[in-house]
Amino acid sequence: MNIFQLQESAWQRLQGRRAQLPHALLLIGQRGVGKFELARAFAAGLLCEAPGMDGHACGQCSACNWLGQGNHPDFRLVQPAAMSDEEAEADEETGKKKPSQQITIDQVRGLDDFLHVGTHRQGVRIVLLHPAEAMNRNTANALLKSLEEPRPDTLFLLVSSEADRLLPTIRSRCQTVEVPLPSPQAATAWLAAQKVSDGGRWLALAGGAPRLAAELAGSGQRGLLDALLGQLQKGRQLDPIAAAALIEKTLKADKSGALTMKRTVEWLQKWSADLALVAEGLPPRYFQADGATIGQLAASSSTIKIINFNRLLIKFKAQSEHPLNLRLVLEELFFAYRALY
Ligand SMILES: [Zn+2]
Repeated sequence: MNIFQLQESAWQRLQGRRAQLPHALLLIGQRGVGKFELARAFAAGLLCEAPGMDGHACGQCSACNWLGQGNHPDFRLVQPAAMSDEEAEADEETGKKKPSQQITIDQVRGLDDFLHVGTHRQGVRIVLLHPAEAMNRNTANALLKSLEEPRPDTLFLLVSSEADRLLPTIRSRCQTVEVPLPSPQAATAWLAAQKVSDGGRWLALAGGAPRLAAELAGSGQRGLLDALLGQLQKGRQLDPIAAAALIEKTLKADKSGALTMKRTVEWLQKWSADLALVAEGLPPRYFQADGATIGQLAASSSTIKIINFNRLLIKFKAQSEHPLNLRLVLEELFFAYRALY
């Protein structure tokens, strides 16, 4: 079972645009539902010389081969340098500064030549831009120029998990295709087919998004998560100094780079969001298996305290990329957490 079977209806809606291709399509939906795969497969199907009835590329023609090798002359992928493995690695080796998390204005301006020559294959020319929210205002305005003066046979495919952050002028130039959350049953079955163990748990932690769930399960998060939950469940009995030491040790022992202070704060945000839900008599969203514990903890706190703690976490997250003193930041966090109870 692949992501397209899971997103069959969104795929069909994309296929519906094939006959009369718009100049710009915007795929929106929660992070980790498979938008990028859908967009990429849609592009492949459009460029392919012999696509199947279902709209998928054949995978064998010369167009498919070029695309697979990353050098189809009528296709451009525009994404932040940090997302492109080769560039990120090259930068790391040469010791250059960290690759950008943003799509730069130069990347968008660099499309000019591509857009102003005829297509090489007499077919459609495609720009896949992902994630569209990774553009600052200047970059977005540069893109807008291209969207406002559409070239014939050109399709802009934009993908966004945070469409509300896009300039309204960009959104209004695009036809929107929504990629929904699949049903939990279908998503769990999909995760099982991907050989993800404990799929239901990861799915809940990913807010129901199957691709994100698979990513989390495969990212070595379990060690951090189990250590963190072991501490959070203690509530008022938590020892902030010991908890900070334990989490610091877990983060520092990680060689994969997946376990970071930012991740830690994100897990705390989810835990805290569940506390707030349960305090209001609603079921937890992320830590469904820990519902009973969360219920007891919420009962010895208050909604106001939890909301204030949530606000504090937002502040911590903003500073979590480069904490000056990891241990101190963790201690501060855990003291604030214990004060909830
Ligand atoms: Zn093909």
